[in-house]
Amino acid sequence: MAGIVSYRLPLFLKSVMMKKSINRYCITGLFIIVANHLLHAQVKNDYPIQPVAFTQVKVMDNFWAPKIKVNADITIPYTLEQCRKTGRIDNFLVAAGRKKADKLTEYTFDDTDVYKIIEGASYGLQVTKNAGLERYLDTLIAIIGDAQEKDGYLYTFRTANMDKPHAWIGSRRWEKEEDLSHELYNSGHLFESAVAHHQATGKRSLLDIAIKNADLLVETFGYGKEERFPGHQIIETGLTKLYRVTGTKAYLDLAKFFLDLRGTAGHLNHEYSQAHKKVIDQHEAVGHAVRATYMYTGMADVAALTGNKQYLEAIDAIWKDVVEKKLYITGGIGATGAGEAFGKAYDLPNMSAYAETCAAIANVYWNSRMFLLHGDAKYIDVMERTLYNGLLSGVSLSGDRFFYPNPLASMGQHQRSAWFGCACCISNMTRFLPSMPGYVYGQNKNDLYVNLFVGSISQIKLPAGNISITQNTNYPWEGKNELVINPAKATKFSLHIRIPGWAVNQPVPGDLYVDKAQPSKAVTILLNGDPVKYAIVKGYAVLDRNWKKGDKVSIDLPMDVKRIMANDKVNDDKDRFALQRGPLMYCLEGPDNADGSVMNIVVKKDVPVQAVYHPGLLNGVVTLQMKGSATKRQLNTDELIKTQQDVVAIPYYSWANRGPGEMEVWIPFEESAAKPKPAPTIASKSSVSGSISNKRMLKGLNDQYDPKNSHDASATYLHWWPKKNSEEYVQYDFDKEYTVSQSSVYWFDDAPFGGCRIPASWKLFYKEGDQWVPVKEKESYAISKNEYNTIHFEPVSTKALKLVIQQPVDHSTGLHEWNVK
Ligand SMILES: [Zn+2]
Repeated sequence: MAGIVSYRLPLFLKSVMMKKSINRYCITGLFIIVANHLLHAQVKNDYPIQPVAFTQVKVMDNFWAPKIKVNADITIPYTLEQCRKTGRIDNFLVAAGRKKADKLTEYTFDDTDVYKIIEGASYGLQVTKNAGLERYLDTLIAIIGDAQEKDGYLYTFRTANMDKPHAWIGSRRWEKEEDLSHELYNSGHLFESAVAHHQATGKRSLLDIAIKNADLLVETFGYGKEERFPGHQIIETGLTKLYRVTGTKAYLDLAKFFLDLRGTAGHLNHEYSQAHKKVIDQHEAVGHAVRATYMYTGMADVAALTGNKQYLEAIDAIWKDVVEKKLYITGGIGATGAGEAFGKAYDLPNMSAYAETCAAIANVYWNSRMFLLHGDAKYIDVMERTLYNGLLSGVSLSGDRFFYPNPLASMGQHQRSAWFGCACCISNMTRFLPSMPGYVYGQNKNDLYVNLFVGSISQIKLPAGNISITQNTNYPWEGKNELVINPAKATKFSLHIRIPGWAVNQPVPGDLYVDKAQPSKAVTILLNGDPVKYAIVKGYAVLDRNWKKGDKVSIDLPMDVKRIMANDKVNDDKDRFALQRGPLMYCLEGPDNADGSVMNIVVKKDVPVQAVYHPGLLNGVVTLQMKGSATKRQLNTDELIKTQQDVVAIPYYSWANRGPGEMEVWIPFEESAAKPKPAPTIASKSSVSGSISNKRMLKGLNDQYDPKNSHDASATYLHWWPKKNSEEYVQYDFDKEYTVSQSSVYWFDDAPFGGCRIPASWKLFYKEGDQWVPVKEKESYAISKNEYNTIHFEPVSTKALKLVIQQPVDHSTGLHEWNVK
């Protein structure tokens, strides 16, 4: 064990930074080296289409390659260091008996962050050889092995045997699995990570730990044995991956058992965890979006491996429900923060959109599997939309700031964070990005599918022979792509080139979002410079021929700017359109527009839009430029000031890299849909403070964003949850002395499910010298929901007001707005 603990991360970070210039693209060589040791069982049934593995696709474009490099150079060392700093690695050391501690980290699923980052780092090693990183992974894996109990059980929160065990874990193994213990969730991520690590490095160290754990689960779970389903899904896909690698069918059977047990007698649970009915009877997406979508992915895997038709029927119906009623235009899913869940059909609020990064990643997993099952380009359309928009927005350009929810509108209250106590989205992004090359191609015997347009060189083994295929493209900024086919010898096979839905006026399958403004320019495909005949099959242009060395296929996808309209049933998008160019969705952001404001902008539907490439902006982006207008309120009159102005949109994924500010994806084309810029008021010019230090919340108090009602979570608000029964305050320091005589408050109240209620009482004070003096009120203080509570008082000249609140005995209180006159 010598050296394991002493190998500190700062040193490792240094070694990673130093390795930057070393031969980055060594995939082919590495692949050959490890291929000899790779386990891959020949399973009897599987997806008819197989993905071309990430190990065979070398991305070398100007879009993804730099992002994968930032992931390798910044995100992986950064997140590993965060795991160390936050005690996630200590959890394993304590469980291994190699360290003493009073407490572990916050959540029982914190082990999974370590697994996921090992998974990401393993993919990353394919792109950048890094002996320091590989050695560090070996070290971590040794610690994980030491934390594993003799019989294979691996869950640090129980094995560490703390004096005060975590409330979620139960007194015996798996006792609280169907609720929150996350024991099987931890196992699932261990399996996923172990398979990736094995495939990337050829090593068995983590795989052996995973197999030992999986064997214990096989021994323990089943009908007549331990009958419990996983409270949070992921183990289903973990087990199917492990089955493919080892050929141990018991792993596949266990995945199916976990799925089939949900919603049966004795295992009926909430929609939250998709256990409200049997999985084969589920036809709508409900509950926690990440849990759900991991489950649908697992069902696709089991359906492919077993031929189960009932699973297929269920996920086909659920897919339709999501894509036609519950999908954001960014590909994000899971509209509501309450339960991190799918909302009702067409309920897709923009500012309060949850659209968790993990859910976007899960949506990519699921849609890629649906394609492997059905061979239809419509699934890749959804996958590509998610990948380039709602998923990519989850990480900053710098690679070390992250979004958990990915809203489609902001008043500046949203910013990426350096870390979250629940770090699922961060570690998920870390593992997903470097695996991205595995989504470019698919193959079914001698049918080769080109799904994503990514500058790359790939080596692909077809039954007809080995081929090398190069994509030369500046996608997503340009629509031209040249495919150079180099078979070892002249070879007959079918090339299926995806014609993206967005290129033929079909942004998504169904009618949730439509593009009716003008027909797209035609897609052109040339073979060695000449027009070529092809059939369109399931959204692919199929070129079936005898390919010879140097054959070139040129594809030109129309990059005209699209104005996407949402279905009338989506209230939040009424009288608005969204801009799309190629696969990218656009948004307006403060720094590119007058006054840093965007919510007051109106753009006519038919206005011409210019696409301009800016190499120096946001690491190089195409912006969209157009004419529009904006409105401002004035004091003491309802008349608006209207100005004409230039309007600039940037790719949605690149927002929130220049500090907090306004943003919106859905642009009003009617004035009634825009929010005029507020006039400066005493409140809006005040500096805000209070018995709370969250600046974002304090900012919500005087932002003049009137809520729809007290529980309107899309507006910004301030709250003291989880504090109860306490006296709290907020304070305005004016920019100068004013004579004031009236003040109004709009309370936040998220009854019955939330923790905030209107207060027990409130009182206003003004500053006289150094003293706070109560105002002389003219009526009693009103306390009611869903409206402004206004108090009139004897006029006072002062430079500051203080609002003192007594919270209810059993609840907290919150405030939407506080105005002063
Ligand atoms: Zn997450």
